[in-house]
Amino acid sequence: MIRADAETNWRVDGVSGNNGKPVSYLRISVTDLCNFRCFYCRPAEGVEKIPHSEILRFEEIALTVRAAAGLGIRSFRVTGGEPLVRRGIVDLLRQLAAVPGVEDLALTTNGVLLAGMAGRLRGAGVGRLNVSLDSLRPERFSSITRGGNLSAALSGLEEALAEDFGEIKLNTVVLRGVNDDEIFELVEFAGRLNLCLRFIETMPMGGGRGPDWFVSLREIKRMLGSRWNLELVDRRGGCGPAEYWRTPEGVTVGFIAPISSCFCSSCNRLRLTADGMIRPCLASDREFDLKRVIRSGGGVGEIAEVLRRAISAKPASHGFGEGFVSRRRMVSIGG
Ligand code: SAM
Ligand code: SF4
Repeated sequence: MIRADAETNWRVDGVSGNNGKPVSYLRISVTDLCNFRCFYCRPAEGVEKIPHSEILRFEEIALTVRAAAGLGIRSFRVTGGEPLVRRGIVDLLRQLAAVPGVEDLALTTNGVLLAGMAGRLRGAGVGRLNVSLDSLRPERFSSITRGGNLSAALSGLEEALAEDFGEIKLNTVVLRGVNDDEIFELVEFAGRLNLCLRFIETMPMGGGRGPDWFVSLREIKRMLGSRWNLELVDRRGGCGPAEYWRTPEGVTVGFIAPISSCFCSSCNRLRLTADGMIRPCLASDREFDLKRVIRSGGGVGEIAEVLRRAISAKPASHGFGEGFVSRRRMVSIGG
């Protein structure tokens, strides 16, 4: 159990960042590789690959999760790059699910490799899935992802729906002039599958000419509100940055709007990058070198100390909107 320490600003009953919110969630990027090159996430020419030796090994990730669970962190999400391209991912997920204290293991994926894998992921202990889906039009989907196949992604989603995941959500990044005319179709599609759909604002994560694509989710909410009488839903379990509304047909629509409505006061998370850095805030390039600590022989106690320092460094509010553009791209942080 963590003891109170007057020198730090974290709390005994869950470790808190400078917004006073206990950190209860760790996002783990397991690879910087991806089978898509979504234009808002990766440049056309690709990104310089992180050398294999610099990517955290499974046992290093599992040790980090053990340390985080010891601090009271209960929710973990595996992401990437595309997490399903990492060889042995099912074994890693099984290891993580078995760590004492891990209550919630989730995965974010572009969905394409779910076909043929969904059952094994569920069997390994993944309880929740987020599937990214920016368009329902094959050509547009292919253009956004630079070559991705919509029907393969939808087959993956269909296979996941046949498994008993506790929750599956769809995530759509709204891009001006690209897919902002599809928001109604996407909500209706989610409704037909009985899924929650979340719209996300583009963030300046080094993806090129981002501001041109930016659409404020206030605008999207207004557009949806012109068709539906949206009713505010309680924040799910009070965790995470999304605000949820429901259409009269019962479709839950989430809005993740880091730019137009700063959600830092509800931020409950840390991020572990594929190359072993802990990033306290998406909108700050400040990182803590966890891999160095692990590879110089650090165990659970030393890792927990790095996590505590990172939590103490979580800012009260973010730097988006102050001209911040991340040095790292989203593909190497994990969203
Ligand atoms: N490859 C997986 C996927 O696409 O779901 C997992 C990693 S991806 C980086 C995680 C999420 O980040 C996706 O929903 C993606 O749309 C979102 N994302 C990527 N770049 C973004 C950006 N610049 N702004 C907002 N969201 C972004
Ligand atoms: Fe790959 Fe996901 Fe980034 Fe698209 S958003 S390039 S699928 S990591």
